[in-house]
Amino acid sequence: MPELPDVETYRRHVEATSLNRQIIDVVVHDERLLDGVSPQGLLQRLAQRMLVGSRRHGKHLLLELDDGTWLECHFGMSGRLRHVAAGAEDPAHDRVRLDFADGSHLAIISRRLLGHVRVVSDAEAFLAGEQLGPDPLADGLDEGAFTDLLRAKSGTIKSALMDQGTLAGIGNVYSDEILFQAGIHPKRSAGALSDEEFGRLYREMRRVLETAIDQGAGWEDFPDRAPEDFLLARRHKGGTCPACGGPVEAIKISSRTAWFCPACQR
Ligand SMILES: [Zn+2]
Repeated sequence: MPELPDVETYRRHVEATSLNRQIIDVVVHDERLLDGVSPQGLLQRLAQRMLVGSRRHGKHLLLELDDGTWLECHFGMSGRLRHVAAGAEDPAHDRVRLDFADGSHLAIISRRLLGHVRVVSDAEAFLAGEQLGPDPLADGLDEGAFTDLLRAKSGTIKSALMDQGTLAGIGNVYSDEILFQAGIHPKRSAGALSDEEFGRLYREMRRVLETAIDQGAGWEDFPDRAPEDFLLARRHKGGTCPACGGPVEAIKISSRTAWFCPACQR
């Protein structure tokens, strides 16, 4: 499931490929991906417009149009974006495409149709309505603010990291990775971590997310390109810990499967 690093990769991809190109058509292959707008309505909102900017908060991507409105994309379990050059083959599961005047297009891809595309008039108001916690990479989120937010949670530290109302953008995969890098057991009670542990968790959170973004998280071959010391590609039966070489284990936490190293995470 796309998490913060994946969505940031898509944001940067849009910035690098799709801004300031006139949209001449919108093709909706499957309208189940649209939320609150019909294919016809989406065409009316986008035709002759251009994408001129972007922002991301947590797992939400907002693409700014030149009339000040926004296209909001949420990727569900398996969605992504891809700019496709003129004449190149369209990717599989391309559900919504923005066709540009130069013959290229932006494909919104969703294999399982669990994300959505919406038009929102005000990005700030939209994000406020979602009741999201701060973005883990936000400038204003320092170690003290991070500690205060998570220490107030009841339940496990893994559940607290994944709670979008507390902190927006971390899901099952990256909460495992951050806890692994910090050497903290996923079942620890959030309220019982020491200041020193919260400090480590904060620094590893930033390092893990920034490293994953730098490596192009979100593209299909990313697990193979993840750093050697990451747990990410080893979260499976028979997987071994990159630090101690011992077997990784799976446990259920809040109905999600957490992978961790019982020897390295206390
Ligand atoms: Zn280990």
